[in-house]
Amino acid sequence: MTDRDEQALLERVEALLAAPDQGDHPLHEALAALLARYRRQREQLERLISISDRYQLLALEARQVTQKRYERALRRQQKLSRISDGYQAMMRERNRALHQASTHDPLTQLANRRLIDERLRQLQASGRSYTLALLDIDHFKTINDRHGHDVGDRLLVAIADTLRQSLRESDLCGRWGGEEFLLIFAGARLDESWRIVERLRESATAVSVCHGGVRLSVTLSAGLSEHREGESHTETLRRADQALLRAKRDGRDRSLADAVR
Ligand code: GH3
Ligand code: MG
Ligand code: MG
Repeated sequence: MTDRDEQALLERVEALLAAPDQGDHPLHEALAALLARYRRQREQLERLISISDRYQLLALEARQVTQKRYERALRRQQKLSRISDGYQAMMRERNRALHQASTHDPLTQLANRRLIDERLRQLQASGRSYTLALLDIDHFKTINDRHGHDVGDRLLVAIADTLRQSLRESDLCGRWGGEEFLLIFAGARLDESWRIVERLRESATAVSVCHGGVRLSVTLSAGLSEHREGESHTETLRRADQALLRAKRDGRDRSLADAVR
């Protein structure tokens, strides 16, 4: 039954109850009581519907407020995550830079003595064979004296770059002193390392820097030693240094190996 049908029925019942000629009808009183009861129930129902509507509206508002709060919290959380990621990336970069600074020489970016020493100790502990080569630039003081320290620096850096680029991943080239480099050939025998050192000396000799319209280049001398079983790495180093001294004494621009056993 539609609302309109119901309204029409009510009007009919009311009209019948109000009609003067129906006042004595046997159903008049019962119908009047039924109508009154129907009205009360109808009012109650409307009140309930109105309460339910208001409750639903409140629930909807509460949901919207909660959703907004959640979105705000989410945005704040995302912003904090971005800041935290930024800090972590910055810390990682600082740690990397610190590690690089503590293990590398600032001028040439080659491994410094600390890293060289660490690598030598690791090799020594591993029991692997290795060969060392000490390389020293010939008459480098003359370059500084004639052309200035800055030109000497440029040449030093260019030679260091060439040495680094020509080595295998497993080998290490470090700055041992002023114009001295130490090469560590892990797992390599003397003859193999000798060939590499000759190739490196050749590449380094081909390096030049231009100053005052003149191309300046240098030669290098090298001393090699293969680690002997039972020997400390400092002893292997000492033998490479002695071989280098002999190479210098013999006229420079050459390699010598301490191969006597
Ligand atoms: P030798 O052939 O006997 O090795 O002669 P040398 O002149 O190379 O040797 P010496 O030990 O007499 O001099 C080394 C020179 O290397 C002196 C020093 O000023 C220079 N040197 C050391 N470190 C640096 C550096 O970082 N930059 C520059 N430009 N020169 C340096
Ligand atoms: Mg020198
Ligand atoms: Mg020297």
